[in-house]
Amino acid sequence: MSVAILGGGIMGLSLGYCLARQGVAVEIFEASPVLGGLAGPLVLEDGVAVDRFYHAILSSDSHLLGLFDELGLADQFRCRETRMGFYHQGRVYSMNNLVEFLRFPPLGWIDRFRLGLTILYARRVRDWRSLEAVGVEQWLLRLGGRRTYENIWRPMLKAKFDGGFDDTPATYIWSRLVRMTSTRRGASQKELAGHLIGGYATLMQAMARSIEAVGGQVHLQSPVQQIVIEQGRARGICLNGERRTFEAVVATMQAPIFRRLIPDASPEYQSYLGQTEYLGIVCPLLVLDRPLTGFWTLNITDDRVPFTGVIETTAYIDPRYVGGHHLVYLPKYTAPGSPWQTMPDEEIRSIWLKSLTEMFPDFDPRSIRYFLVHRERYVEPLHRLNSAHLIPDVQTPVKDLFLVTTAQIYPALTNGESVSRHADQAAQIIRQSGQGSSVVSAGLPRPVPAADRAAA
Ligand SMILES: Cc1cc2nc3c(=O)[nH]c(=O)nc-3n(C[C@H](O)[C@H](O)[C@H](O)COP(=O)(O)OP(=O)(O)OC[C@H]3O[C@@H](n4cnc5c(N)ncnc54)[C@H](O)[C@@H]3O)c2cc1C
Repeated sequence: MSVAILGGGIMGLSLGYCLARQGVAVEIFEASPVLGGLAGPLVLEDGVAVDRFYHAILSSDSHLLGLFDELGLADQFRCRETRMGFYHQGRVYSMNNLVEFLRFPPLGWIDRFRLGLTILYARRVRDWRSLEAVGVEQWLLRLGGRRTYENIWRPMLKAKFDGGFDDTPATYIWSRLVRMTSTRRGASQKELAGHLIGGYATLMQAMARSIEAVGGQVHLQSPVQQIVIEQGRARGICLNGERRTFEAVVATMQAPIFRRLIPDASPEYQSYLGQTEYLGIVCPLLVLDRPLTGFWTLNITDDRVPFTGVIETTAYIDPRYVGGHHLVYLPKYTAPGSPWQTMPDEEIRSIWLKSLTEMFPDFDPRSIRYFLVHRERYVEPLHRLNSAHLIPDVQTPVKDLFLVTTAQIYPALTNGESVSRHADQAAQIIRQSGQGSSVVSAGLPRPVPAADRAAA
């Protein structure tokens, strides 16, 4: 079976790695000059490579850790205890253990107790489908009460969804709570986050080498122009104006990009794909000569701050691995059509720095070595209430054409762990179809979040 895989991000490479090891002849086509997609690297002016966006690997990411073992990368994985905090009404609060939690001033005793119960309850939910029809606001109000909702959840959700989240199901916050608490171990409840030396690029390169070692091919700077569809069947791809024939084609990019590559698919399928929406991101990276907060994540519950959080990855990456720099990302998630996406870099810089200086009066702008604004339009698929039927299947209506994309990952959050797990499951579907089994188009078995795995 010869398979063209479109996209050299974590999804495309994980899929290529799985299929190539099972004897499938794969060729990966990546539009950009480097592998990695959203998890790709960025080379600073001084030649140091860093992750373009922040990427933590958690100690509970068992699938990824398994991949590191298989690829001989385990000794390049570094993991550290980290700290997280809250920025609330002009002050930073550490929130790392029970004592700090019980002292958190915006909440009274009963609120704190209910917040604790919300987290415990979330970890015990077995059937996420029961949350699919419940709004996130309703769920959080019921479990945690009004004060916790107004002080913590509402501002965080507003920032994450760039305004409205009325039709967001409770599954969103449930998945997040499960992931964020899955790494806390033992009585100390310490939080562990990690990275590969060299960032996610190290994993991508290792997977590419492994694919090539068994005869597969990885092509960079190869933007596929169109997927060739004839008589309801995918026949290959169009690249640099030339046709290349394959027995199957797998697209791993986001649905709106995929849609543009299939002008010959039915209008019904195209308009179905058009219903998949994404959050985008505007994410300045501050490269500093000193630490800023010491927290890996600082959640912001203040509407006046334009960014969603302060993420300092050098809280868990030893700066010696990134040229002695301190890396701080200040992401702003953007709703479809958000004006933040088109705002000039200079304007973003001035708004962001004004806010940062107000938050941290000791912050010295002279500590900035680089201020780099990065943007992406399709980052996180948006799932609305009762809309699981809008999740596209891996098997498309076009024979021998498959879509393996982050929009299919639900209710788990999209990250390296869930993406590589999903790619594994999708590889089985593609292999089965190549062996002539009919694929039931009832959707993919959804990745099971950590709490359910533990319970299973
Ligand atoms: C700000 C931010 C923070 C994140 N934090 C974390 C984190 O802490 N931990 C974690 O594990 N994950 C994190 N993630 C999520 C993670 O980066 C993504 O889930 C993952 O990278 C998605 O990979 P993908 O391969 O599905 O998609 P992509 O990375 O988007 O890959 C798709 C690829 O397809 C290519 N492509 C598009 N069109 C064509 C074409 N016509 N021809 C050929 N190639 C094409 C693109 O160039 C791209 O490389 C974060 C993401 C962001 C943006």
